[in-house]
Amino acid sequence: MTETPETYVRADESESPQRGSWERLRAIIDSLADGIVIVDRGGDIRFANPAAARLFNRSADELIGTAFGSPLLAGETTEMEIVRRGGGDVVYAELRVVDTEWENETAELVSLRDVTDRRQADERARQLSHEREARLEAEAASQAKSDFLAIMSHELRTPLNAILGYSELMELGISGDMTDAMRKQVGRIRLSAKHLLGLVNDILDLAKVEAGRLSVANAPALVSDAITSAITILQPQALARNLNIVTQEFPPSLPQYVGDDERVRQILVNLLSNAVKWTEPGGIITIEACANDNPDQRARLQPRKSYVCIKVIDSGVGISEEKLGAIFEPFVQGDTGPTRSQEGSGLGLAIGRRLARLMGGDLTVQSEVGKGSTFALWLPADMDAVSEQPVYTAAEADSDHVSADAPRTVEPQLKGLCEVGTSMLSQVESLTSAIVGRIRTDPNISMAAGLRTSQVSDHLSTFLADIAGALAVVEDTLGKPSPLLADAMEIQRLVSERHGGQRARLGWNESAIRREFMIIREEVGRVVRSAVPPGGALNVDDAIATVNRFVDQAEYVAVRALEREMKD
Ligand code: ADP
Repeated sequence: MTETPETYVRADESESPQRGSWERLRAIIDSLADGIVIVDRGGDIRFANPAAARLFNRSADELIGTAFGSPLLAGETTEMEIVRRGGGDVVYAELRVVDTEWENETAELVSLRDVTDRRQADERARQLSHEREARLEAEAASQAKSDFLAIMSHELRTPLNAILGYSELMELGISGDMTDAMRKQVGRIRLSAKHLLGLVNDILDLAKVEAGRLSVANAPALVSDAITSAITILQPQALARNLNIVTQEFPPSLPQYVGDDERVRQILVNLLSNAVKWTEPGGIITIEACANDNPDQRARLQPRKSYVCIKVIDSGVGISEEKLGAIFEPFVQGDTGPTRSQEGSGLGLAIGRRLARLMGGDLTVQSEVGKGSTFALWLPADMDAVSEQPVYTAAEADSDHVSADAPRTVEPQLKGLCEVGTSMLSQVESLTSAIVGRIRTDPNISMAAGLRTSQVSDHLSTFLADIAGALAVVEDTLGKPSPLLADAMEIQRLVSERHGGQRARLGWNESAIRREFMIIREEVGRVVRSAVPPGGALNVDDAIATVNRFVDQAEYVAVRALEREMKD
């Protein structure tokens, strides 16, 4: 603000008696927190006090003579946006205008109050209220979506269960005899319905978790029980893919976890089933459990709380860096994998992580492409009841000495396989001719149409007879080293290798040989299904899974041999 008297004191007044009162007035005006400007009839500023100068970020001298730039209406209160010099910085002023006189002319006296803070506070309040409204709307929409999914999933499950039940009855022959083609088609209906039911159940779970409607039990439970039951469920699939599931010795002081045993098992089953899916035959899946094992930085765990960590470690294909962040999102799946069809919903991990968090823990992953993945399930530890974990398989309880560090394999119940093997052995001839018949007429194996029967069946009967023989050995020796089983496996490896080489020489490609193994799987499955003793301990799916373990391995070896032969 200028101190030059001319700007506001007329020269002839300088010595007048009014001078003292003007100076006092000037002092008051200068000390006001509000800006004061006088604007003449032409709209130019004629006077500005220091507060006004601060508001405009210019000196009073600079302001005087410039256009005020905002319409003025005496008696009204308006707001004005001031873009300050230097660019960008905006302040808001509330204007009050009164008529006045300046140097004998009518003018406006404008008081300007800086309301920037108040404006920003209002703006923020408005923004918060919009955000709140948007959040409430989103929550309502999400609730509606979850309700819809939950109701739909429930409605879908009833008819799906009926489809499953009736197709199983038909397959069992309850509704009369069926041709092979009919049985095959009914089998497909059952498999599709089973897959769809799994999907619907997953969606229902996810919808419930997201709607906050899923309650989880909160009780101490044994880590070993959860692991054993998950392994028991997955062991047949692992065997079928020639994968070894091993568990490391638990630390003796491993506490129980606090959570929902059903849900923990569900998470572990999903982790194990993924490990089985994404690991090449011959690989190893290890399960470890420990207390407070260096909590993963990415895990959402509370500091100073104790946790139990269960790790599922596989030697599989691994997950790429960019995929790693997304796999816990619903419906995210990997691109390709080592098994024939990686059907799944992409929901398992999303549900697993949400369930783990619901129980106060978390689910995390570390992975390296080509090396394998480690999924870690963290659960709150029950520190009140640190107990010794029991021995967890009957077989091991019986065994004389289990080395403290030795990995231990949990075994499935496969009693009755021997009977299945004997029955299959007696049907090897008819089984071979059924397979050969299908191969020669299959449009996907067009190169087989012109071949002699002996060329198609070349290794098949040896291979099938060997599987049948191996089933008896599996029942007797499962889980223990056995020279008999090793021999059977070696024979199959050799036969499969020759088979793959011969197919390559006959002009087959990979998709033809894979199709051949699909037919083998279906036909062998049919025989096994009819051979499982009714009412016995052996479950049909377990028996088929065990047989498929051999067929899968044979396919793997045969395809490799075919590739080698084609390259040479
Ligand atoms: P789904 O198995 O039904 O596709 P998940 O949520 O269980 O769904 O898994 C999501 C994706 O994460 C899989 O499609 C796969 O790409 C990847 N994935 C999960 N587990 C593994 C694993 N052990 N090794 C490699 N990739 C895995």
